[in-house]
Amino acid sequence: MWFRNDLRLHANPALAAACKSKNPVLCLYMRDLDSDSKRKAGAASNWWLDKSLRSLDRDLKDLGGSLRLCSLNGRSPSDIFKDLLEEFDVVSVFWNRRYGPEQRKTDEVVKSFLKDEEIEAKSFNGLLLAEPWTVTTKDGGPYKVFTPFWKSLSSCYERSHPEGVPDGDFLDEPDEDIDDWGLHPTEPDWSTGFDDQWTPGEKGAQERLSEFLDEDLKGYSDNRDRPDRHSTSRLSPHLAFGELSPQQIWSATLSKIESDSACESDGWSFLREIGWRDFSYSLLYQAENLSQINWNDRFDDFPWVDDKKKLEAWQKGQTGYPIVDAGMRQLWQTGWMHNRVRMIVASFLVKHLLIHWHEGEAWFWDTLVDADVANNPASWQWVAGSGADAAPYFRIFNPMTQGEKFDPDGDYVREWVPEISKLPNKRLHQPWEASKEELKKADVSLGDTYPKPIVDHKTARQAALDAYEQTK
Ligand code: FAD
Repeated sequence: MWFRNDLRLHANPALAAACKSKNPVLCLYMRDLDSDSKRKAGAASNWWLDKSLRSLDRDLKDLGGSLRLCSLNGRSPSDIFKDLLEEFDVVSVFWNRRYGPEQRKTDEVVKSFLKDEEIEAKSFNGLLLAEPWTVTTKDGGPYKVFTPFWKSLSSCYERSHPEGVPDGDFLDEPDEDIDDWGLHPTEPDWSTGFDDQWTPGEKGAQERLSEFLDEDLKGYSDNRDRPDRHSTSRLSPHLAFGELSPQQIWSATLSKIESDSACESDGWSFLREIGWRDFSYSLLYQAENLSQINWNDRFDDFPWVDDKKKLEAWQKGQTGYPIVDAGMRQLWQTGWMHNRVRMIVASFLVKHLLIHWHEGEAWFWDTLVDADVANNPASWQWVAGSGADAAPYFRIFNPMTQGEKFDPDGDYVREWVPEISKLPNKRLHQPWEASKEELKKADVSLGDTYPKPIVDHKTARQAALDAYEQTK
């Protein structure tokens, strides 16, 4: 069984099939799998991966087996399999499919190598509700707009009742030691804020799901846009590492709706977000390179600005716009950011600062614990206006009104930007409007204890509209 981004024992179709084969099962994980990829996992993802692999190994040990870890170190996955064929009498290899172009290429090469060796390779859907080629328009083509995609997916998706841990004869044949992989950051260990927030691994994922369904599903539709309310599921990193499958989420949410009909509308609005994840994967599957190439080529000539100083101010949460800074600091300190705030900070980067969405996507890739091959580039392109079914570029978020609307009491900004926490609510989202007395009373000295805005909103907005005009 070749584990990749499906680090779970329950509801894992490839693992279930491997166990059903009645042969002893060797559980394998390869590091830096897509060896020719220029993009390695980010630092925050590595933090998560370390814990998730340890958790999976512990779970396998409870079943008498263990997780065998292999680094590629310049070798290809086929080279690793070649070595394994010498050590073990391999009959079949099982895995759950991946959908990025490079990932598919890697897997095809392995499949063909195994075929030449007369070894059966069997792959499954363990990652999505429905695979991209199964949700199609009347003409049989892929959807490029979310609403019809969702209508089609939600009407034809058949609820499965995910299986438990399969009964298998697991081999205990470890190889490399995870301590040697150095995935957890040292010198400095910047991850201390992560431990309080997250429990990587399958058990942590299941507990998070139950807690969310019991405590926060009711009211999700109203609360999901409010970063001050801590009310979304925070399942994204668990999904990105496959510690939980969307099918498990679908089934558990429907069960919740069946037992408590007051959750029906909130339940469907939550499942719709899981649908967005499938939609991103469908775009990843259709695109040549979603994290590099504009979906809409109108943006190929966009006059992006190269400004390292402003980019750094954005990355460090020092733009002088409180809601933007709060989001960027939440990201740095916890590896996660609320969806509404992701949209605000991303819009600020590409529209107020005119910095290429690639820069933002790469920063998120490195700092998010849920950095996802499909969701991250698809969402960045969505905000930038270059994506499929995207927000129009000319619709420019006003960070002050966004802050006032979605963080009306300022709790979110006060949590992450404590140096302005004593400002009254009406000034909190625009400290530069505060009078000298108000600033003094709140111990704020603009340009000293908290930055002045790095761009003027009105001027930046006009510059963004002018830049967009140039692309016509
Ligand atoms: P919930 O509201 O509880 O939603 C449940 C699940 O649905 C999420 O875990 C996620 O898997 C899926 N989902 C929710 N919103 C979206 C969405 N807009 N698009 C696709 N799937 C969604 N999500 C990632 O998983 N990884 C990323 O790298 C990522 N990068 C993003 C970058 C930008 C610029 C933006 C605007 C959004 C990004 N998202 C990404 C989407 C979204 O912000 C997160 O999935 C969400 O905030 C995760 O929190 P949650 O699990 O509490 O969400």
